[in-house]
Amino acid sequence: MGKRIFIVLLGVPGAGKGTQAKMLQEKLGIPQISTGDIFRYNLKNQTELGLLAKRYMDAGELVPDEVTIRMVADRLAQEDCARGAILDGFPRNLEQAQALDEMTAPDGGVSLVPLIEISDEEAMRRITGRRVCRQCGAVYHIEFNPPKHDMVCDRCGGELYQRDDDKPETVRNRLYVYYKQTSPLIGYYFCKGLLVRVDGSRPIEEVHQTLMHILAERGILPQD
Ligand code: ADP
Ligand code: ADP
Ligand code: ZN
Repeated sequence: MGKRIFIVLLGVPGAGKGTQAKMLQEKLGIPQISTGDIFRYNLKNQTELGLLAKRYMDAGELVPDEVTIRMVADRLAQEDCARGAILDGFPRNLEQAQALDEMTAPDGGVSLVPLIEISDEEAMRRITGRRVCRQCGAVYHIEFNPPKHDMVCDRCGGELYQRDDDKPETVRNRLYVYYKQTSPLIGYYFCKGLLVRVDGSRPIEEVHQTLMHILAERGILPQD
């Protein structure tokens, strides 16, 4: 087996990490791992992990590292990650980044860290207009990426809803937490030569093309 590929998508809440991770997953055939999605799945199914995560998510704070790191380590050990993973929403602080370095060390560490850049105003617009499918997790925007039929998922017919933590009060704290705890990762990955800045203000398909171009350029598209 060749070395595994680990792509870490960085960016403020609303930057488009989930949207791009899903598109890369389809193109590259390596799974998206979204810690936020995993927490929401556990919340929906009222697992112990979900109940623990809930109060942090409601407040827009980070779920404790020991819980989050163990969850990602377990996920990366699953069979479908044999060729690697696209990480979206993890790591979110230096402790998590160091833990990820350890997990990926046998494969030479993280492969690339695209930083998807948008303004704070754009982040607010994107998050407050975001709607998510209850069934399949597909992500829409009421203005920028609307479903064909009002509040119904194009892919599975499921009902669309607004995440509780996408209300303006919580969004402000999530941006604050990003700047305080997550943004140091920009320097961390820059020093490792892994950071690439991507203009996230462009349309969804254009950002996707830019990412594909960067992956090809760096020679890290998976070979079948
Ligand atoms: P993140 O995972 O970084 O929080 P999402 O992928 O969930 O971001 O996107 C946030 C919101 O912005 C969603 O409603 C999504 O449909 C929308 N969106 C994502 N990318 C773009 C883009 N390039 N242009 C306009 N809207 C976008
Ligand atoms: P967004 O895509 O808008 O940035 P996420 O879905 O990634 O939001 O995260 C939602 C919430 O889940 C976060 O506010 C946080 O409470 C929790 N969470 C997600 N990923 C992590 C992580 N790596 N570490 C700690 N908490 C996390
Ligand atoms: Zn759906």
